[in-house]
Amino acid sequence: MERLQKVIAHAGIASRRKAEQLISEGHVRVNGQVVKELGVKVGSNDKVEVDGIPIEREQPVYFLFYKPRGVLSAVSDDKGRKVVTDYFQQIEQRIYPVGRLDYETSGLLLLTNDGEFANLLMHPRNEIEKVYVAKVKGIPSKESLRSLQKGIRLEDGKTAPAKTKLLSMDKKKQTSIIELVIHEGKNRQVRRMFEAIGHNVLKLKRERYAALTLEGLSPGDGRELTAHEVKQLR
Ligand code: URA
Repeated sequence: MERLQKVIAHAGIASRRKAEQLISEGHVRVNGQVVKELGVKVGSNDKVEVDGIPIEREQPVYFLFYKPRGVLSAVSDDKGRKVVTDYFQQIEQRIYPVGRLDYETSGLLLLTNDGEFANLLMHPRNEIEKVYVAKVKGIPSKESLRSLQKGIRLEDGKTAPAKTKLLSMDKKKQTSIIELVIHEGKNRQVRRMFEAIGHNVLKLKRERYAALTLEGLSPGDGRELTAHEVKQLR
């Protein structure tokens, strides 16, 4: 269910504010009835008309995508770089990524055309668990990892407690692979957390988002979420 003014705004007819005005002034009908109150919610089967003209509503769609490295989490790029929606050209709905992974980060990214769903997932209150695997320079000490676990001060505030696991290390090459589990989504958070303990990230992948994993997918692959998966995320 979505607010009527949002549905109208999403159809590209008017801004949110103009949509509210259209409703208050009696231009909008839901299933044949004029609705003047703001805040009324409509479902995908409700027929919405503005001045007697039915508005086109996109069917909401939800995709899980294995973003390769070197792809931008955006719908277009003025520098001509590859963007995630290039992989969904056969989809007629106008989908966009839910949050973002850095250009050089690979891994699990959701895409949808459902703005309400995207906002819900990105809201800081909705602490979704994200699992990252980072290859970092050097071999962090237990104390350094403990400081990530406790929360570390970054320039935009302290991070919430995180889980870390040293998965492997290469003493000769002086690199290690570390799993980091966080609930937040600050800009470049994982890279900055490792930088803060003096171990730059060489490679980064998001392996899990809530209960969703990349199982069965290769970089560049996508699949639709099941109705059950969408429900679990809401
Ligand atoms: N943290 C980062 O530093 N980069 C990402 O792409 C995601 C999380």
